[in-house]
Amino acid sequence: MLNCSDTPDSKREATELFLFSRVPVFLKTFGKFCRAKELVYTWGAEGLPSVGRRKHLNFICFRSLIVIMLKSKTFVKKTRSGGVMKVVREHYLRDDIWCGSEVCTECKQESTVLQKDACMESSLCSYPHYLVPDTNVVLHQIDILEDPVICNVIILQTVLQEVRHRSAPVYKRLKDIIHEKEKHFYTFTNEHHRDTFIEREPGESANDRNDRAIRVAVKWYSQHLKTFESDTDGLKVVLLTNDQGNKQKAQDNGLLVYKCEEYVKSLIANPELVDRLALSSDDKSEITSSKVLFPEHFPLSRIQTGIKSGSFLQGTFRASRDNYLEATVFVQGEGEDSTEVLIQGLQNLNRAVHQDVVAVQLLPRSEWVAPSSVVLQDEEEGNVSFMEEDLRTAAAEAARKPTGKVVGVIKRNWRPFCGMLNVSQIKESTRHLFTPADRRIPRIRIETRQASTLAGQRIMVAIDGWPKDSRYPNGHFVRSLGGAGEKETEEEVLLLEHDVPHQAFSQAVLSFLPKMPWAITPEDMMKREDLRPLTVCSVDPPGCTDIDDALHCRELENGNLEVGVHIADVSHFIRPGNALDKEAANRGTTVYLCGKRIDMVPELLSSNLCSLRSNVDRLAFSCIWEINHKAEILKTRFTKSVINSKASLTYAEAQMRIDDTNKNDDITKSLRGLNKLAKILKRQRIEKGALTLSSLEVRFHMDSETHDPIDLQTKELMETNSMVEEFMLLANISVAQKIYDEFPECALLRKHPAPPPSNYDILIKAAKSKEVEVHTDSAKALADSLDAAKVDGFPYFNTLLRILATRCMMQAVYFCSGMDSDFHHYGLASPIYTHFTSPIRRYADIIVHRLLAVAIGADTTYPDLMDKHKQSALCNNLNYRHKMSQYAQRASVAFHTQLFFKSRGILNEEGFILFVRKNAIIVLIPKFGLEGTVFFDSKDKVSPNIVFEEEGPTLSVEQHKFHIFDKVKVTISLDDSNIQHQKIRMALIEPVIPGVSVPAPDTETPAKKQKLDR
Ligand SMILES: [Zn+2]
Repeated sequence: MLNCSDTPDSKREATELFLFSRVPVFLKTFGKFCRAKELVYTWGAEGLPSVGRRKHLNFICFRSLIVIMLKSKTFVKKTRSGGVMKVVREHYLRDDIWCGSEVCTECKQESTVLQKDACMESSLCSYPHYLVPDTNVVLHQIDILEDPVICNVIILQTVLQEVRHRSAPVYKRLKDIIHEKEKHFYTFTNEHHRDTFIEREPGESANDRNDRAIRVAVKWYSQHLKTFESDTDGLKVVLLTNDQGNKQKAQDNGLLVYKCEEYVKSLIANPELVDRLALSSDDKSEITSSKVLFPEHFPLSRIQTGIKSGSFLQGTFRASRDNYLEATVFVQGEGEDSTEVLIQGLQNLNRAVHQDVVAVQLLPRSEWVAPSSVVLQDEEEGNVSFMEEDLRTAAAEAARKPTGKVVGVIKRNWRPFCGMLNVSQIKESTRHLFTPADRRIPRIRIETRQASTLAGQRIMVAIDGWPKDSRYPNGHFVRSLGGAGEKETEEEVLLLEHDVPHQAFSQAVLSFLPKMPWAITPEDMMKREDLRPLTVCSVDPPGCTDIDDALHCRELENGNLEVGVHIADVSHFIRPGNALDKEAANRGTTVYLCGKRIDMVPELLSSNLCSLRSNVDRLAFSCIWEINHKAEILKTRFTKSVINSKASLTYAEAQMRIDDTNKNDDITKSLRGLNKLAKILKRQRIEKGALTLSSLEVRFHMDSETHDPIDLQTKELMETNSMVEEFMLLANISVAQKIYDEFPECALLRKHPAPPPSNYDILIKAAKSKEVEVHTDSAKALADSLDAAKVDGFPYFNTLLRILATRCMMQAVYFCSGMDSDFHHYGLASPIYTHFTSPIRRYADIIVHRLLAVAIGADTTYPDLMDKHKQSALCNNLNYRHKMSQYAQRASVAFHTQLFFKSRGILNEEGFILFVRKNAIIVLIPKFGLEGTVFFDSKDKVSPNIVFEEEGPTLSVEQHKFHIFDKVKVTISLDDSNIQHQKIRMALIEPVIPGVSVPAPDTETPAKKQKLDR
C-alpha cells in the first residue's frame, strides 16, 4: 500500500505511484483475461512496478526487465459471509534476482550484502564460505544465528516463508538479523528465480519439495560463485541441516553440508558458542537416564478428538509459585464461563510448563484433592516420592476441587528464562542445573563448559525439550546478563521477566522516521490551523523530555473563555501498518523505571519531533472548547494544528507563577484562567461521584554520579498537577464521545468496572475497627464516606483508608465499543472515557488520534481501524503490556528500595498496620511509601503463641492484640541471603512483646545523614 509520507517528487514518479496503487485491480483482470496468453510483467529495481496496457498485452513495466508468468493456480475459497470466491494465484519467474555477493561480476546488482572475505575460522571449512541454513536450523538455532560471530548467511525464500508460517517470534528475530548490516544476511528469492524454482513432483511431500528446493538453490550458488574462482580464495557455499536424509541427498549432489552442531563445534575462535546450541532430539539420550519417568503425551489428533468428545479439557497451565508439585489448568468455557482443574504431583503435571496450552483429563471424583497449603521448593534432586507423599493430606470433602492430569501439550509457550546456574558438585562436569528467577518455571538442565565463569551471574536459558525419561527439561545457555545484584543486570532481568520489549529499535523501524533536518512544510501548513500566535505552554514533572500535552486559555470578546488542549500529533509521523507502527503497537506503552525510560517510539519522535517543547513549531492535534466562567462547556471542536509553545514549565514553576501576584504576563494569566476553571471542574466531577483515591508514589533522589538512590520520598502533589489532570480528563471525555458518535462499532475506549461488593469487605471492616462507617453501594456513596472519615488524633487515618480503598478497585481496561455494552468508568464517574492525551507513550492514544482524524476528515481510514475483531485483539495486547509495565515499574521501585536500604544498614521507622494476616502483619511506612511484612513465626526461633481472628481481623501475639491501622515501630533491613530473591525484612520494635520484638538499632552515622539532607 502507498505510504502517505512517500511524496513523489516528480510527475513521472507520481504517475507510477498512482498506477502502483491500482495494481491489485489490474492483476485480477489479468487473471481472467490473459490466462491463456503470455503475460508480460516487469518489475522495478525498488520493487515499484507500473502498470499499462499495450495491444493484447497487459504489462507492468519499469525500466527494461521482462518476466514471464510460469503458472497460475486457481482455487475456490469460502468467504466469511458464506459465499464462494474464486482466487487466482499466479507465480512469476524473474530474471532480475541477484546473488548478493561482492565477488560477483555477472549479476547487475547495485549493492551487495555478502562479503568477499567471508571468514569464519572453522576447522571443517578452511576456506571463506557462505552459510545456508535450512528451515529447522533457523527455527531451532536462532540463538546461534543471532550471535555476532555468524555472518554472511544466505536466507532462502523457501526457508523464510516456512519460518514465517511456523513461528512468528522466530520470524521476527530473523527479519531483525537480516536488517542488521554488520551481519551480512542476504535473502535470496529462489522461488522466483528462473534457475532455482522447482515444481512439486507427483507423490512428493511439501516438506521434501522444500528440502529439494533448498538443495537446488545451494547447487546454483556453488556453480554461480565458481565462475569467479580466480578472484577468490575458493569461496564456497555450505548447507546447514540437521536432517540426516537431507544431508545424505545433499552429499550425493556434491554439496558441502554439515549438521549445525558439527559446524558450530568447528569454529576455532569461538568455543563458547557451543553452549548456545539447542539440543536436537536425537542428542537427548546422551543427557538423560534410561528410566522412563513420565507418561507419554497423546498425539495431537487423539487430543483433538478427546476435546471434541468432552473426555479431555483444553486450558492454560498455571504452575504454583509456592509449590512446584502443584498447578491449575484454567479452562475457558463458553462466554464468561470458566473452570479450574487442579493438578498435583510430578506424574500428573507430566512435563507441562507454566503458560503452556495443555489437554487435561479429569480424575475420578474419588481421587479429587484440595490445594495444599505447603510451601515446596524444588531444591534437591531425587526424593520426589517422599515429597509427593507429603502433599496428600486428607482434605475435607468440601475443600476438594476438580483434579486432573495432563495428557498432552497443545502449544508450548516457552521463552528464554532469566535465572542462575547451580554449578554441579561433580568436578569437570559440563552438565548443570539452572534455576529460573520465576519460581513457576522448573529447573532446566543445560550443558556448558563455562560454569565457573557463569556462577554468580544472571544468565538466560532456553528450553529445547522435555523427554519422558528426564526429570528436568533440557535447554541451552543463551547469554549472560552480568553479575547478580548489579544494577544494570537486575534492570535487564526485570525487563525480560516482565516481557517488556526493550531492544534498540531495528533498522527497519528507524527507516520510517522522518529524515533530518525536519521542518513543517507549506503543505502541512495548508492542512492545519495555525495556532502559533496563541500563548500555549506545557506543565510537566521536572526533567520531562517527552512532552505530549500543552494548554492555553484566553478570554474571548464575548466574555467567555477559550481553552485548548494541544496534543503531540504522533499519528502524523507513524503511518498505519509500517514497521514503526507495528513496533509501537507491540510495545503498547513507554515503560518508566527508576532512572530509566523504555520508549514506545524512537527517541527522535519521543524527545524531539513530537515533544511539544517551547519555542519550536510543532504539529499538534488540538481540542478546543468555549467555556463560560461557571466551567460549562458551550462548544467543542477538534483540529489538526501547528503550535509554538511559549514555555515548558514544571508543576512547581507553574504554581509559583500562579501564586506570585507581581506576575501578570500572558503565560501567567493563561495559567490562572486554567487553574480557576480546573477547580470548578474538579468540584463538579467529585459531586458526580468521582473517586479521589490515594496511593503513595515514591520518588528516589539519585546520586548524580553513581545513579544510586540516596533518598526516597513520597511524591508531593500540587494544585497544578490537578490543573493539568482536569483538562486531560476533559479532553479524553470529549474525544471519547466524538469517536463513539462517529464510529459506534469500532471506537477504542477505556472503562473501569465497578468492583464486586465483596471486594470492599476489608475496607468496611478496617473502617469499622475505628468506628467509622463506609458506604460502598455507589461510587458517590463511597466518595462521600471517604470524605467524612475522620478519627480524632489520627490525621493519617483518612489517607490510609484511601490507600486501602484503592486496593479494592478493579483494573481499568481498553476495549472496542462494538464488542462490549458496559462503558462506564467507575473511578472517574464518567459514562464514557478514552485515552487521547499521551500518544508519545501510549499506543491506544495513537489509534484514538486516527479515529478522531477520520471523524473530522483530517486523515484517511484503513481496514484494520474499522475491524472490531482486530481492534479487540489490539486492546488485549495493550492491556497486557500496560499491566506488565506497572509490574515492572513496581519491581524497579522495589529493587531501588533494596539498594537504598543496603547502603543504610538497619533503620527504624514508624508505620501503620495495613493488613493483618494469619501469621504476620503488613506494615506501611509513610515516609518511604514502603510496605513490608513482619512475620511472627520463623524457622530459627520458637514461635510465639499466635491467635488469628477473621472477624476483626485481629492477630494476638502472646498478650498483645494487633488491629488494622495500629501504629507500630519496626526495623527495616535488607535480607540478601537468597541472591535471586532479595527482600526487605521488617522486625517489630514497638509495641514491646518479650521474646518477639527486637531492640531498636543504633541510628545511622552522621556522615550519611549529611548526604541525605542535600
Ligand atoms: Zn551473482
